[in-house]
Amino acid sequence: MGLIVQKYGGTSVGNLERIQNVAKRVAKTYDRGNDVVVILSAMAGVTDSLIEMAHELCENPLKRELDVLLATGEQTTAALLSMKLHSMSYPARSMLGFQAGVRTDCTFGNARILDVGATRIRELVQNRHVVVVAGFQGCDNEGNITTLGRGGSDTSAVAIAAAIKADVCEIYTDVDGIYTTDPNICKNARKMAKISYDEMLEMSSLGAKVLEIRSVEFAKKFNVPVHVRSSFNEEEGTMVVNEDADMERLVVSGVTYNKNEARITLRKVPDQPGIAAKVFEPIAQAGINVDMIVQNVRPGKQTDLTFTVPSANFDEALAIEKKVAEDIGATDVLGDKNIAKVSVTGVGMKNHSGVATRMFTTLAQENINIDLISTSEIRISCVVKEKYAELAVRALHTAFGLDQSE
Ligand code: ASP
Ligand code: MG
Repeated sequence: MGLIVQKYGGTSVGNLERIQNVAKRVAKTYDRGNDVVVILSAMAGVTDSLIEMAHELCENPLKRELDVLLATGEQTTAALLSMKLHSMSYPARSMLGFQAGVRTDCTFGNARILDVGATRIRELVQNRHVVVVAGFQGCDNEGNITTLGRGGSDTSAVAIAAAIKADVCEIYTDVDGIYTTDPNICKNARKMAKISYDEMLEMSSLGAKVLEIRSVEFAKKFNVPVHVRSSFNEEEGTMVVNEDADMERLVVSGVTYNKNEARITLRKVPDQPGIAAKVFEPIAQAGINVDMIVQNVRPGKQTDLTFTVPSANFDEALAIEKKVAEDIGATDVLGDKNIAKVSVTGVGMKNHSGVATRMFTTLAQENINIDLISTSEIRISCVVKEKYAELAVRALHTAFGLDQSE
C-alpha cells in the first residue's frame, strides 16, 4: 500500500475503449488499498490537430490563446476518465492544472513549473478520493493558463509526485520500458530493469524519446522513483532511480542515435580572441541550440570550427554563419544535413578506460568514418554519415555486450 501517481500518455488514452482500460487499472490499484493520483495526456493526435486548427485560422495565433486551446486536450481526457471511474462507483475528482496548484512562469507554450501547491490534492487523497489531473498545463502568477511544451505531461506527473511525496510515479506508455537501444532497429535490444537518473538524462537528451527530459531532471532533483511501463500489459517496466550498488555493472548501458542534427563548418577562421563569441552569439540570439562544437588546432593563424544544430534550424543557422564568415574573414561555410549522432552511455564509464577506443575500433571495423567526437563523464558521442546510423548502433550494441543472450 502506498501513494501512487500514475501518468497515462496519449496512446494509452487514445480512444474510449482505452480510457475504459485505464479506469480498470486505476480501480485495481485503488482496490489494493493504495491512494492514487492520475495525470493524463490528451488523446493521441489531439494536441497536433488543435495546433493545426489554430494555424489554419490565424497565421500567428496569440500564444496565450494557443495555450488556452491546447489545454483543452487534457481537460477532455481528465473529465472522461473521472466520470468513468464515478460510474464504476469510485470517488474520482478531475482537476485542471491551475486547480491542482501547478504554478508556472509565463512562457506560453513552454512554461516551467515553479512549484506545485498540492494542498487540495492531498486533502482529497486523504479522504480516499482518486484525483485525476490534466497534465501538460499550469497557470502563471496572473492566472493565465500555460502549457509546458510538447511531451510536458511527464513533467506534470513527476512534479506532482514530488509535491505530494508519492512513493512512485508510474509513467504508462506504449513501450514496455527503457531499452538498451531502439528495439525498432536492433532486434537484440534488451529491456533494462533499472537505470539511473543520470543515464536516463543523457539518453533522453540523445534522442531516446520515452521520457521527456525535464521530467527526469525533476525526478533527480526531488528523488522521485519513476517506473516506466506499458499500459497494454501487466509486466514490470524499467525503474529510473538514483544510482545504487546493485545496478547492473555494465560499463556501457545504452546505445542511442539521433538523426535530427546537422553539421556546419566554418573554414579558415582567424585564430584570435573573440571569434568564437562572434560565431555563436547570433545563433543563440536566433534561439538555436548548438550541440557539439569542435575547433581544430592548426599551425598558423587560422583554424576550422565545426558545430551541430538541430536539422530543423539548419537553413537558418547556415544563412547566419554565411554572414558571420564574411564579417570575420573565414573562407567558406560548409554544411551537411545527412549526419547522425551515435552515442554510448553508462555510469560505469566513470571508472573504466578504453571505452572510447572500443567505440572507435568498432566503428572502424564496419568501415564507418567518424566526423566529430564529443564526450561527457558518462557518454561518448560520434557523428557519422546518416546512412550508417543503424549499422553503427547494432555494431556498438554487440561490442559492448548488450545483446540478448539468446
Ligand atoms: N498532449 C501534449 C503533447 O502532445 C502533452 C503530452 O502528451 O505530454 O505534447
Ligand atoms: Mg510522451
